[in-house]
Amino acid sequence: MKIDSDDFRVKPGHRVKLKDWATKIDPLHASEDKYQAHLDEHKQELAELQSRLWAEDRRALLLIFQAMDAAGKDSAIKHVMSGVNPQGCQVFSFKHPSALELDHDFLWRSTCRLPERGRIGIFNRSYYEDVLVVRVHPEILAAQALPPELIERKDIWDGRYRSITDLESHLHRNGTEIVKFFLHVSKGEQRRRFLARIDDPEKNWKFSQSDLKERALWGKYHDAYEQCLGATSSKHAPWFVVPADRKKDARLIVSQVVVDRLRDMNLKYPTTTPQRRRELLSIRHKLSD
Ligand code: AMP
Ligand code: MG
Repeated sequence: MKIDSDDFRVKPGHRVKLKDWATKIDPLHASEDKYQAHLDEHKQELAELQSRLWAEDRRALLLIFQAMDAAGKDSAIKHVMSGVNPQGCQVFSFKHPSALELDHDFLWRSTCRLPERGRIGIFNRSYYEDVLVVRVHPEILAAQALPPELIERKDIWDGRYRSITDLESHLHRNGTEIVKFFLHVSKGEQRRRFLARIDDPEKNWKFSQSDLKERALWGKYHDAYEQCLGATSSKHAPWFVVPADRKKDARLIVSQVVVDRLRDMNLKYPTTTPQRRRELLSIRHKLSD
């Protein structure tokens, strides 16, 4: 089954209504074998493209994952990236900011962790939390130690969207491409996954009391996501809304988008100049005894 990345892309300036975006599509594959074969194909291609990105050593790719709890961010990252060379890949999970991080502007902690040239960087949560969880919880904003007149500004969120899109344009102009995923899970499926985390002792560690508190704010989170996705999806740093109720479909869609993006980068192994070739041949000659 062919996957068209564009079906899931948020067009720049589009007003997002999450109700209109599927959390579940017709299964991409009828059998486990077919699913696995398709994912393996993506993984092989990803490994080949990553190896060119690494050899070229000029550009980087940043993948950003955002979602409600239990949408499958961790497992999507694990499955999609399992075939790539760990040397060329950097994953960061952003949690509640530390005191040091709160002493800086909200982009600071992320900019320190951007992928180096030649690498794929993965943000499991990101600076987008600062227009999502922080927007949903005014007390978190209040604790960000900003001057009061800045916190009270009505356009604080528009200002943050602008900071984000400016950063992302800047990165594009400097060789870092960005792809952003919102794993779109339904409230019913989140309930099923939470119940599994409670019922299965091996999954208990994944459940925390705060997960329920955030679930109660579902509508507010969705409002914040809708505004954020609409305001920050751009040509160079698009958002993809990935149906996440079936994890396997989500993984295939995510890996397809990543492969397509890397392919579009037209990555090439560095070529040798005739002069360099002559130098190498003379070195080879010296190695012959
Ligand atoms: P988890 O990813 O489930 O381990 O949880 C990490 C928690 O950190 C989530 O509840 C996030 O909302 C929270 N978090 C991440 N970034 C921020 C931020 N900038 N401000 C406040 N909370 C954050
Ligand atoms: Mg969590």
